Amino acid sequence: MKALLIGESKQGKIEDSTYELVGFAKQFGMESAMFIVAKNDSQIAYDGKVYLADSDKYKEYNPDAHKKLIEEAINKENPDYIIFSHSSYGWDMAFRVAADLKVAPISEVVDYKDGTFVVPCCNSKFRREVKPKTDKAVLTLQGGAFNPVAEGTPQIETLDIGDVEPSVEFIDYEVQEKTGVDLTKAEIIVSVGRGVGKKENIEFEKELAETLGGELGASRPVVDSEWLDQSHQVGTTGQTVAPKLYVACGISGAIQHLAGMKKSGFVVAINKDKDAPIGEVADVFVVADVNEFVPILTKKLKSA
Ligand SMILES: Cc1cc2nc3c(=O)[nH]c(=O)nc-3n(C[C@H](O)[C@H](O)[C@H](O)COP(=O)(O)OP(=O)(O)OC[C@H]3O[C@@H](n4cnc5c(N)ncnc54)[C@H](O)[C@@H]3O)c2cc1C
Repeated sequence: MKALLIGESKQGKIEDSTYELVGFAKQFGMESAMFIVAKNDSQIAYDGKVYLADSDKYKEYNPDAHKKLIEEAINKENPDYIIFSHSSYGWDMAFRVAADLKVAPISEVVDYKDGTFVVPCCNSKFRREVKPKTDKAVLTLQGGAFNPVAEGTPQIETLDIGDVEPSVEFIDYEVQEKTGVDLTKAEIIVSVGRGVGKKENIEFEKELAETLGGELGASRPVVDSEWLDQSHQVGTTGQTVAPKLYVACGISGAIQHLAGMKKSGFVVAINKDKDAPIGEVADVFVVADVNEFVPILTKKLKSA
């Protein structure tokens, strides 16, 4: 199988997710080449062919030009799979390309086996297996699902398709002002999941966090329910954290959450379901009711 990996560059820097695409291809023994719109002098750690279009000319966001450029690389490589990150760029570009080529789009891939892709469904509660009926397929890979591989020196081929009149104009990035907690610097994080049941119960985790001298994190449903503000969210659409200690309280361990905390040094998980996926990354897995266990733990720590 042959893959064309669609890398990403943002503000002149190669996005880390680009290397997860490489990791995916390597993990499943696929031959690969890469396409990217980036600065001509970008340092890309990849041991293969890179079709590079100059971001000074084609901008980091210009879907009309990028689609044409990607299709040029597809013509040259004739890949079985055209692979994007499941990012805002991937969501946008993958389906434009799939529609143009009339091939199957498969989004949020978290695993692969013999031509079959595993993707989440039912709000990530279940997984299903899908197999494209077309001979090519366009994929987006879920962030954090595959280990990045960043090594080697590429053979660069510059792509230039002349001027393409854009239907949208890329002006600039707007950086969201950081308010609330900066979890990226925290050494200890006590993180709250939907399993705590209601907003009032977060007092238990707050007290534990204070006792340990840590910060309060959260899964997305906790933020969506407005129990805590967005600055607490850990995961693909929240912060990526790497504390020495991460205490996951009533968190199932969905892939989007794990992507944000899997670099934690030591993980303690408290969950009443012994089969919860968080158990796979936990160093200590406590099977208990979080609202009973956490106050007892805090009390013990205070008296220690
Ligand atoms: C595009 C996209 C981006 C996303 N980004 C993020 C993100 O950045 N961060 C994120 O967290 N999620 C993200 N999600 C959502 C993610 O898929 C999960 O839905 C979410 O992480 C689940 O949160 P949770 O573990 O708190 O809730 P649930 O999955 O509902 O899990 C609750 C857990 O609590 C346990 N539990 C219940 N009651 C108790 C109790 N009394 N005591 C102990 N345990 C109990 C249950 O057994 C269960 O394991 C994203 C989803 C999508 C589609």
